[in-house]
Amino acid sequence: MTIDPVIVASRLDAVRDRIRAAGSDPDEITICAVTKGFGPDAVRAAVDAGLYDIGENYAQELASKADDLAGAVDGVRWHMIGGLQRNKVRRLAPLVSCWQSVDRVKLGDEIARRAPGARVLVQVAAVDHDGEVLEPGKSGADPQVVPELVGHLRTLELDVAGLMSVGPTDATLDPRPGFDLVTTLADTLDLPVRSMGMSRDLEAAVACGSTMVRLGTALFGPRPRGATASARPDV
Ligand SMILES: *Cc1c(COP(=O)(O)O)cnc(C)c1O
Repeated sequence: MTIDPVIVASRLDAVRDRIRAAGSDPDEITICAVTKGFGPDAVRAAVDAGLYDIGENYAQELASKADDLAGAVDGVRWHMIGGLQRNKVRRLAPLVSCWQSVDRVKLGDEIARRAPGARVLVQVAAVDHDGEVLEPGKSGADPQVVPELVGHLRTLELDVAGLMSVGPTDATLDPRPGFDLVTTLADTLDLPVRSMGMSRDLEAAVACGSTMVRLGTALFGPRPRGATASARPDV
């Protein structure tokens, strides 16, 4: 299956309309094109449409696409957005522009060691109205430990730019309390980037103050069979 850049461009127009309808200015929101499950042609189509921020969930998939496109496509900024094991950091260090899934001290330490000065976001777990973590066991730090984690990362040679969150996988759960808490925490901690919102919950995220949405299916259509839809630890 190849990706048609013309279709991606028209889907991008539809995404911009959705951002506008949700009450924000599409020029103020970074769109990270999530190409997991698709081939390098999806990255080319995104770049053709003017999207240079490319998100991948799995270390191996990011590395092989980056290798495929090296020398052919310029200016891609790779975002690691999936659960990440420390032993993958070294391989990714020369490739990744933004590490979005930092949810624990040891992972931050390893990124600081392998990629000094790297841009990182702290991934915050989705929570309910009472601040309780909705889906324990998923990636993302409990909001209660986020200030301390941000403080620690700031002592390292890292560019701590913001927070990231993935809404609950269970579509019956409301993502908004978690998104609101991300905005509150980011304001308190003076962090400009709030990476939240995927194809299904873009409107909620934008209404809650997102500055970056991460979109796969809304840009590229359904992922090919066998590709996984949600973040899982990269094993
Ligand atoms: C897959 C994924 C996305 C994009 O999901 P879509 O529903 O295809 O828009 C965004 N963020 C993360 C962390 C993901 O795993």
